[in-house]
Amino acid sequence: MSDFTVQNDYVVEFNYTLKDDDGEVIDSSEGHGPLPYIHGKANIVAGLEKELTGKKVGDKLNVVVSPEEGYGKRQADLVQSVPLSAFDEANEVKVGAQFHVQTEAGHPLLVTVIEVNENDVVLDGNHPLADVSLHFDVEIVNIRKATEQELSHGHIHAPGESCGD
Ligand code: ZN
Repeated sequence: MSDFTVQNDYVVEFNYTLKDDDGEVIDSSEGHGPLPYIHGKANIVAGLEKELTGKKVGDKLNVVVSPEEGYGKRQADLVQSVPLSAFDEANEVKVGAQFHVQTEAGHPLLVTVIEVNENDVVLDGNHPLADVSLHFDVEIVNIRKATEQELSHGHIHAPGESCGD
């Protein structure tokens, strides 16, 4: 078992259950296996990453992450209506569909279609978990040093697997 503590540039694997304020399960590692990430690279929400710092394999923790340190507060200006004619395949535009757009600053933004009207479509660029307090039950199951390649790519590689990046 690893004696490392959670620190920057280490790969941490953890099991988790994520619930909202009402105790409803939003997401869980059950069935997927532990989630690996590189600590210090903002691969996971800031509030959880902060609480994991210094922990060891076998540690279990319960972390409540505010929206500010989670997926953000809802921003009214991220809800925008665009003309239906802006879509190449208007018949593919359905409520609940998600796709990436470029913001005016040139950043990719995931938007969700929340309304389809006769002439326009309303898009919501807020994260589906914006405004949600995140209740994590976490158990750390492994900690290892990230490889040079993982650090340069900013993401983890499965054992023995190289990636095309
Ligand atoms: Zn890679």
